[in-house]
Amino acid sequence: MEKLIITAAITGSRISRSQTPYIPITPEEIAQSAYECWEAGASVVHIHVRDPETEIGTQDAELIRRVVEPLREKTDLVLCLTTSGVPGLNFSLEKRMIPLQFKPELASFDAGTILLGGRPFINTPEFLEGAAKAMKEAGVKPELEIFDHGMITTCIRMRDQSQLEDPLHFQFVLGTPWGAPATPRTLVHMVDTIPGDATWSIIGIGRSHLPMSMFALAMGGHIRVGMEDNLYYKRGELVKRNSQFVERIVRIAEEYGREVATPSETREILSLPERT
Ligand code: ZN
Repeated sequence: MEKLIITAAITGSRISRSQTPYIPITPEEIAQSAYECWEAGASVVHIHVRDPETEIGTQDAELIRRVVEPLREKTDLVLCLTTSGVPGLNFSLEKRMIPLQFKPELASFDAGTILLGGRPFINTPEFLEGAAKAMKEAGVKPELEIFDHGMITTCIRMRDQSQLEDPLHFQFVLGTPWGAPATPRTLVHMVDTIPGDATWSIIGIGRSHLPMSMFALAMGGHIRVGMEDNLYYKRGELVKRNSQFVERIVRIAEEYGREVATPSETREILSLPERT
């Protein structure tokens, strides 16, 4: 079976210190947490930055730089920068594409409109077209975030119209209160729908974090963990460091007999150019 890519989603855009004292907020905290995840075996980190004053997500280039630069210096991580902005605040296309300035190897691509955090997170066909074009021009591979089945249809149509390029890489986000449920059936159905040469990874939100990871492990998909998606290490126990989640997946994968991919192997699996 293909080696396992572990992605760590460090902070997201909305979780506050009142929900957990352990959420990384400043660029230094975010970079440090990402570094620890790399040491633990993650090969990709998914990065949002926060306004240290308000704690809310921002697309501020200077804050992004303060995370990206040290990680590039000290690690060989594959960087996946968010283009979501803050779901529900619905920033302009231009603002959402600011992270592309840093030429990450991956950027999130929210493949449709959905309720998220109880508000409409708007990704119109015009936005998707603009985002796909901007990513293509910047040489950044879209990580196709799929919250609902129709978003796969959207991506395949965009591929057929040459707006997205094969091989596609999907990130299934299952178990949000407004999207596709985190069940084995949903996952199998989604995997059956994507093109044969596509790669895929899973995000199980909240309590489905670990169960969904286990399905991906067994089915040959890849796994994303992190405080953006789940705050609890186990029932009633807040996770203190993102790397705890990575360490757990590494231990289970080892016991299961599936090797964990290095960043260099991850680039090969995702058809990304070798790092120069
Ligand atoms: Zn994100």
